[in-house]
Amino acid sequence: HVRLFRESASRMSIPLISFGQTLGVLTLHSSERNAFRESALQSLESVADICANSIQNANYIERVKQLAYLDGLTGIFNRRFFELRIMEEIERARRYGTGMGVIMADIDQFKRLNDEFGHLLGDEVLRQVSSLFHQQLRKVDVVCRYGGEEFAILLTQITAQQAIAIAEKLRRMVESYQFPGVPRTITISAGVAVFPAHGTTRDEMVRAADSGLYAAKQAGRNRICVAKRLALSTASTQ
Ligand code: GH3
Ligand code: MG
Ligand code: MG
Repeated sequence: HVRLFRESASRMSIPLISFGQTLGVLTLHSSERNAFRESALQSLESVADICANSIQNANYIERVKQLAYLDGLTGIFNRRFFELRIMEEIERARRYGTGMGVIMADIDQFKRLNDEFGHLLGDEVLRQVSSLFHQQLRKVDVVCRYGGEEFAILLTQITAQQAIAIAEKLRRMVESYQFPGVPRTITISAGVAVFPAHGTTRDEMVRAADSGLYAAKQAGRNRICVAKRLALSTASTQ
């Protein structure tokens, strides 16, 4: 506050230091001259110490929160984050009448890949696929590692046609990517579901995308399938 600053006749600044790291400055103002005496220094320092510790703790909490929503292997969001975000996106789609969609993508024959080339290379492939997805999607989309070699992608403000096109783009990209150290093609299968045609709750949306994924695997892998329509009719959009 500039006013406070002008009126102050004495001022003292104490650095906020925690574990040798300067996190900020605590500045005290007083309208009295020579307000800050040597004798008060120790208690002011301990106030500064409490402030520094509080800031440090707040920083830690932020970091822990972040880690709780990130997958350790790939660095992308984890399933917990997906489950929170999909609730928000469904709510937004409901309120504003904008579309949203979910892609469930699973690497084909990943167990065989591990067996052939080892678990460490398998891990590397998971990282590469994550990064390929990340690069290809829009900033507003959310890529999550849903489980082992399964990814859940949240698409915001999207139509069924666009969601299908994105899933197909991801599929083609993985198919044509030359994974370092893997002398053969790696493919994915995916299921696509959109709100509200295939589901209006989180569980319905996930189940719908999963059913599409299952259909893609059954049909021979390296393909995408759209979920069956939610409506009671037996008509299928596949
Ligand atoms: P499908 O085409 O039907 O999906 O066959 P799949 O072999 O990919 O599927 P399955 O579910 O049988 O096997 C998944 C494999 O993924 C088994 C497991 O060892 C491997 N896996 C899961 N998590 C990890 C991981 O973090 N790293 C590595 N390297 N492998 C993993
Ligand atoms: Mg698989
Ligand atoms: Mg799987």
